[in-house]
Amino acid sequence: MLWTRRVLYSQAGPSSGGRQPLNFDGEAFHLKGTGELARALLVLRLCAWPPLVTHGLALQAWSQRLLGLRLSGALLRASVYGQFVAGETQEEVEGCVQRLQALGLRPLLAVPTEEEPDSAAQTGEAWYEGNLDAMLRCVDLSRGLPESPDLAGKTLMQLKVTALASTRLCKDLTSWIMKPGVSSELSPERLAEAMDSGQNLQVSCLNTEQNQHLQASLSRLNRVAQYAQARQVRLLVDAEYTFINPALSLLVAALAVRWNSPREGGPWVWNTYQAYLKDTHERLRRDAEGAHRAGLAFGVKLVRGAYLEKERKVSQLQGTEDPTQPDYEATSQSYSRCLELMLSLVSHHGPMCHLMVASHNEESVRQATKRMWELGIPLDGPVCFGQLLGMCDHVSLALGQAGYMVYKSIPYGCLKEVIPYLIRRAQENRSVLQGARREQALLSRELWQRLLGRAE
Ligand SMILES: Cc1cc2nc3c(=O)[nH]c(=O)nc-3n(C[C@H](O)[C@H](O)[C@H](O)COP(=O)(O)OP(=O)(O)OC[C@H]3O[C@@H](n4cnc5c(N)ncnc54)[C@H](O)[C@@H]3O)c2cc1C
Repeated sequence: MLWTRRVLYSQAGPSSGGRQPLNFDGEAFHLKGTGELARALLVLRLCAWPPLVTHGLALQAWSQRLLGLRLSGALLRASVYGQFVAGETQEEVEGCVQRLQALGLRPLLAVPTEEEPDSAAQTGEAWYEGNLDAMLRCVDLSRGLPESPDLAGKTLMQLKVTALASTRLCKDLTSWIMKPGVSSELSPERLAEAMDSGQNLQVSCLNTEQNQHLQASLSRLNRVAQYAQARQVRLLVDAEYTFINPALSLLVAALAVRWNSPREGGPWVWNTYQAYLKDTHERLRRDAEGAHRAGLAFGVKLVRGAYLEKERKVSQLQGTEDPTQPDYEATSQSYSRCLELMLSLVSHHGPMCHLMVASHNEESVRQATKRMWELGIPLDGPVCFGQLLGMCDHVSLALGQAGYMVYKSIPYGCLKEVIPYLIRRAQENRSVLQGARREQALLSRELWQRLLGRAE
């Protein structure tokens, strides 16, 4: 079960010669066309302008009224949609993926369905069943994408639990989980059993309707996992808000019992850990130990965290302790410690432990690549990198060119569904978009060089 360091060192690290130097100075932009670079610069500049992000939805409605649906749609396609979204049809998504693969990058498809965290609007089972179909199609699409022979078991996709189970249910489960002494009723093993048998689960904190919804949600989650595993697609479950995350983690743990055992060739279901939360390092250590004790494989997507403003607002409103780190430096330190922990686990347990370093941060990426080399973790092994489509291509391209496994998180779908999703993501990642100044400067320099005929 243990992946010995000897095996690791035989594939990479000091024994394989010098370490590939990573250069994030935009040199890798030579791989991209001038039109693509110009669009990236324009869109990143626009997104760094706060009013556009704050009033994005109103501006979209206004432009539709003024320019008409077709023209405003065409403008969006040529700009924001074209920059951050793969497309609408299977052919468009495949085209986008082929362009990425030619650059040494891999797709991480994400279905942009979501429930408003505070809304009670989406409560009908039909909405969740529709999302289940979309997830299954996403598995098919991920699997059917043009692939190179070395992709076996390396196809990944993102999954959002609140597309398949209501936020309301996750909130109620979280309140129950947080109460001392009641956890046995909601053990991952019990939920996993209910998933498998389809027998009605009765949880005392939920009413009849909620119990039925829990059962239906468990069966939806299990269906996606089963379908994905059969098609060799690994599921990376998103982390969301702290008022529902414990329930999401419980559901992931239940899926892990069923789908992350070594005989399944797991981990097929990974959880996401947000370094901006104060308790994340401790939780990550505990969960890793728990998985090891239970003989389960362990998959982690490590992020800084996207819901900072909302988390702080909620804790302020409720008069509770702010769950997030006090400042950016503390979040970065936490990210670094979690990264170190995960890389040392990978170096000890090999393919039983998988990690996606999901960050645009150059320092975090450098730390990961340096430690991978020191620990002898192979570039095509269980550690990979993740960035959003249309963001930080200078980092993704440099990593891809150096032989690391790099995934671009790709939303896809029709304009009407995806634009509100993008605007919400942009609002949550305001600081990131505003911080993309270095990328803008690198893009600008490359474009000037081409204009003056020096780069090509
Ligand atoms: C492939 C992929 C998958 C993702 N999946 C998820 C997910 O499932 N759940 C999720 O929540 N996010 C997810 N994200 C988003 C991620 O959490 C970050 O918001 C985003 O990547 C920016 O962080 P960074 O490390 O890339 O960049 P950086 O610019 O280095 O970091 C910005 C981040 O630092 C933190 N930060 C900024 N200011 C402060 C402050 N004053 N105090 C404390 N912390 C601060 C915030 O987390 C902010 O997002 C994902 C990102 C990627 C690339």
